[in-house]
Amino acid sequence: MATAVLLAAGSGERFSREVPKQLLKVAGITVIEHALRAFESHEDITDIVIVTRDDLLGEVSELVDGKFTKISKIVSGGATRSDSSKAAISAIDAGDQEKILMHDAVRPLVTEKIISDCVLALDKYDAIDVAIPTSDTIIEISNGNIESIPQRDKLRRGQTPQGFRLGVLRKAYDLLNQEENFHPTDDCGVVAHFLPTIAIGVVAGSEVNIKLTYPIDSFLADKLFQLRSAQINHVERELLQASFEGKTVLIFGGTYGIGASIGSQAEILGANVEVFSRSSTETDVQKIESVRKALSQTKEKTGRIDFVINTAGLLKISRLNELTDNDVQDLIGANYLGAVNVARASYEYLQDTKGKLLLFASSSYTRGRANYSLYSSSKAAVVNLVQALSDEWVEIGLSINCINPERTNTPMRVENFGTEDPKTLLEASVVAEASLQVLASDLSGSVIDVRQ
Ligand code: C5P
Repeated sequence: MATAVLLAAGSGERFSREVPKQLLKVAGITVIEHALRAFESHEDITDIVIVTRDDLLGEVSELVDGKFTKISKIVSGGATRSDSSKAAISAIDAGDQEKILMHDAVRPLVTEKIISDCVLALDKYDAIDVAIPTSDTIIEISNGNIESIPQRDKLRRGQTPQGFRLGVLRKAYDLLNQEENFHPTDDCGVVAHFLPTIAIGVVAGSEVNIKLTYPIDSFLADKLFQLRSAQINHVERELLQASFEGKTVLIFGGTYGIGASIGSQAEILGANVEVFSRSSTETDVQKIESVRKALSQTKEKTGRIDFVINTAGLLKISRLNELTDNDVQDLIGANYLGAVNVARASYEYLQDTKGKLLLFASSSYTRGRANYSLYSSSKAAVVNLVQALSDEWVEIGLSINCINPERTNTPMRVENFGTEDPKTLLEASVVAEASLQVLASDLSGSVIDVRQ
């Protein structure tokens, strides 16, 4: 059992954004909430102390209010990281043998295994660092020139959490108070400097456990969360069942391809599935009234709508200048306006159930494609829409995500591209399974790549 300290009092000077990086939203929620979730859900952690900036105390308290049961204190940090650590240590009311994990709140991707390993290693050591090998050669400089090149295989990059017996940490920080010219960048550094006889063990960190420091790190974190969601949920089959049993899933465009496969898999998981499409029910996502009708019919029939999925899409291979006026309207209408209509009309129903909306992009969203420019640019617009709505909806508990499937073996694809080597195409059922996993997850505002 251990107490976790989340250090979130940094100013984020290197991040150059208006929002402090601990409060930046990644994959739908703030960075500090991701870190909190990791410790809150860990069975070895009993208490969490948050250290934050004076001016953010109100905002952080409000943000975490009612969402976490293990937070025992939220305290003000100091000008440096070690001042913030000191503030946390003074706030902890426990004996010298208490295990303490000090964690940078800006490492939202800390894993369950790292936390477990740290807590366990404290049975053997009084201080524990978490570190990974360095692939870059590290150089030591002086006045801009190389002073030395330490042997790379002996070097590690230190991460957090770092674990301590509270008594050891208290002693080291008491000694730091008496020395002005030492500026540690982590907690192990304080123990190593002032208590050199204490052996500090090292457990393996992870390349994924990144620290959000520079603007590019928020993009990396976003991608890493997507990757993680695919991995985590693959093993949690029971959770999937619990998420769908007795729930209502409404699918627009679910007559064939990915939509149909989502429908049949959701049914196996115990959901009520209602399918609307142009061919089966004459539902046209381009017309808001048509979308509203499908939603109200479903609500009337099943009493609730928990998940709305829009797989309706239209692909036509042609140069832009060769499309008719109707084609242009239809392509933008089906692929973009359809997503907008589904989002607008679903809102009131999903609000009642704290439900989830899932839209579809295409791998062409990242770069426009010649000969289907309106399809690819509409899909880029859908991604942008998902990100915007995720921020608008988070306060009321609605989530929205977007699946980005690789080339998939669907009737729409075959119609446009002819027969291709099936080995190079994803099966619709694989995309459907990933879609259900995303709907069962906590993600919001994410674009989840599904690959072979
Ligand atoms: O910028 P740095 O690498 O030191 O930040 C590591 C962690 O320490 C961050 O989570 C940051 O919020 C926290 N920190 C703090 N108080 C400070 C400086 C940094 O809690 N004065």
